[in-house]
Amino acid sequence: MHLILLGPPGTGKGTQAKLIAEKLNAAHIATGDLFREAVRQGTELGKQVGAYMERGELVPDELTIATLLERMRQPDAREGAIFDGFPRTLQQARALDEALAGHGMAADLALLIDAPDDEIVRRLSGRWLCPACGRIFHEVSQPPKQEQLCDGCGGELMQRDDDKPEVVRKRLEQQRPPEELLAHYRKQGKLVEIDGAQEVEAVTRDLLAAIEKTTVVS
Ligand code: AMP
Repeated sequence: MHLILLGPPGTGKGTQAKLIAEKLNAAHIATGDLFREAVRQGTELGKQVGAYMERGELVPDELTIATLLERMRQPDAREGAIFDGFPRTLQQARALDEALAGHGMAADLALLIDAPDDEIVRRLSGRWLCPACGRIFHEVSQPPKQEQLCDGCGGELMQRDDDKPEVVRKRLEQQRPPEELLAHYRKQGKLVEIDGAQEVEAVTRDLLAAIEKTTVVS
């Protein structure tokens, strides 16, 4: 299966993508994670994307699409993938359609997880991440068992630079999925909207229900 998770930052896309990828045994492909890793390692790509990320702006399509296509060529992505944070523009969506069509495939569903701005700002400002294994925690809704330490691997938790309130507001302004992107998937009959203001478990339940419906129908 190829599933796309759409939505503004802070609606739990990353958390949900990980859960679903595990459940469906699919690759979890998050361009944001790939970019953060490149910045951390100081690669050429990292140098190119770092400034955009710090400003809360989108990385240019050409660079983003090239990064995505390279990741899709990895063996674990052959059977299926959960795309998290990609596509964010119509051009990216078209590139993904083309890449999948090249293998006789297509995206099965585009799941839009949305929530009001206030809720998103509240969530992002309390978010903590384990840089070692990628697990995500929240001060209020999902605190780690031991303060500042990852429940999974014991790594030290950190806050993303772009989760600072002023950058969060900019990311929200610039990174709500554009209408033309939603229209692209709506036209294909693949867009499903999920209420991202619910508890994590309820969002997972709704996502899995939507996915199951597609599997049964197709
Ligand atoms: P995320 O972890 O998905 O919130 O992404 C973190 C940052 O990486 C974003 O604020 C953008 O600067 C950049 N980024 C990630 N995915 C994309 C994408 N599909 N298109 C453009 N920029 C992206």
